[in-house]
Amino acid sequence: MSKQILLKQDEMPTSWYNVIPDLPGPPTPVLHPATLQPVTPDDLTPLFPMGLIGQEVSGERWTAIPQEILDIYAIWRPTPLVRATRLEKVLDTPAHIYFKNESVSPAGSHKPNTAVAQAYYNKIEGTKRLVTETGAGQWGSALSLACNFFDLELQVFMVKVSYQQKPYRRSLIQTWGAKVFPSPSDQTNYGRQLLEQDPDNPGSLGIAISEAVEKAATDPEAHYSLGSVLNHVCMHQTIVGLEAKKQMEMAGEYPDVVIGCVGGGSNFAGIAFPFVPDKADGKSVRLLGAEPASCPTLTKGKYTFDFGDTARMAPIVKMHTLGHDFVPPGIHAGGLRYHGDSPLVCQLVDAGVIEARAHQQLSCFEAAVLFARSEGIIPAPETSHAIRAAIDEALEAKKLGEKRVILFNFSGHGHFDMGSYDAYFSGELKDFDYPEAKIKAALANLPQVNM
Ligand SMILES: *Cc1c(COP(=O)(O)O)cnc(C)c1O
Repeated sequence: MSKQILLKQDEMPTSWYNVIPDLPGPPTPVLHPATLQPVTPDDLTPLFPMGLIGQEVSGERWTAIPQEILDIYAIWRPTPLVRATRLEKVLDTPAHIYFKNESVSPAGSHKPNTAVAQAYYNKIEGTKRLVTETGAGQWGSALSLACNFFDLELQVFMVKVSYQQKPYRRSLIQTWGAKVFPSPSDQTNYGRQLLEQDPDNPGSLGIAISEAVEKAATDPEAHYSLGSVLNHVCMHQTIVGLEAKKQMEMAGEYPDVVIGCVGGGSNFAGIAFPFVPDKADGKSVRLLGAEPASCPTLTKGKYTFDFGDTARMAPIVKMHTLGHDFVPPGIHAGGLRYHGDSPLVCQLVDAGVIEARAHQQLSCFEAAVLFARSEGIIPAPETSHAIRAAIDEALEAKKLGEKRVILFNFSGHGHFDMGSYDAYFSGELKDFDYPEAKIKAALANLPQVNM
């Protein structure tokens, strides 16, 4: 039995999968933040190239991946599928645990799968520079890598606390050639306004999104880029699940449960969406999203229309939301702290096709350390939520004495998050209660949409 199940380079999928034609109903509309009317392609052209706008609303099940993108994917793809036999042994479980190792990309996560695609579609339409935001720096570094390959400039608004606390991801961004601003910054009207009120504003992802959108919308040579949530981002990530399906077949297995951690939903969508049509065809496969208990969007959020950002400049979408001005506690999985989630993931949760579970951060770090000591790879704090869920599934299988086949997405390594591990080992890390009062307050500010 082989530990790694490897695809040859010429066996890499050559199309992405779009879940929209396989949704239980039509996709929910996207609304303009000022008019509350459905957005038109014209509303989006200041921010995105037509190629990506087309993908955002596409009803086609398959989209061919351009050769230029495949050529760059080939630097690290196909990624290995690994049978976690040593973890199985430690858990003494009859379950079979497989993980798709997306940490082998140059940026260390799944994020370059969409970054490369977004840079490509901007490049061929003549965009000079991209503008984006980043929390802990994972997205900023992935997009910097991609823009470097396509000779595009990049400006990154990085949440100020992370800029100060996570200098190495900032260095990655700069090494691949992008400019980084701590957000709130003096580069935008919104940032200047916030700094005037409080020069020590630590920033948040919502604020950084607002700054990046403002900057991109006011620069005719620039476009905006988002690393998660949007339909085209989820589609680009399906290369993960399409490869994994082939590899599971090579291993002679089919998963009973497919797991990913959920921040904006893209790595989970990437591994889970290609299984949605199987489920409709009657296969019994469960699709399980794992999120933090301190930012419990899918498990405790309200399924309704909300703004994508704090300053109410981004479009309004229907999603499970904790409110656009909800600021989650400062947990160490910075990539899982968004107030909403991908509308496609949410629609499938609402329809009962996808399940979700929330986990406390201490139990996630415990799972991450167990994984590092059995399988060797050190997980990102985000990824540890998927590992926690996979371990819980394996332990349940043990209790029931059933062979359960578990597949999870190993979304990234934690080499730049060792400060979080230090905090865990020194006992400084704590769990947070469900922030009920803060969520209630934030949900009072939802837009009034009659749809
Ligand atoms: C950004 C990130 C996530 C969360 O983003 P999604 O869009 O929900 O996938 C998860 N894991 C890692 C390693 C990340 O960098």
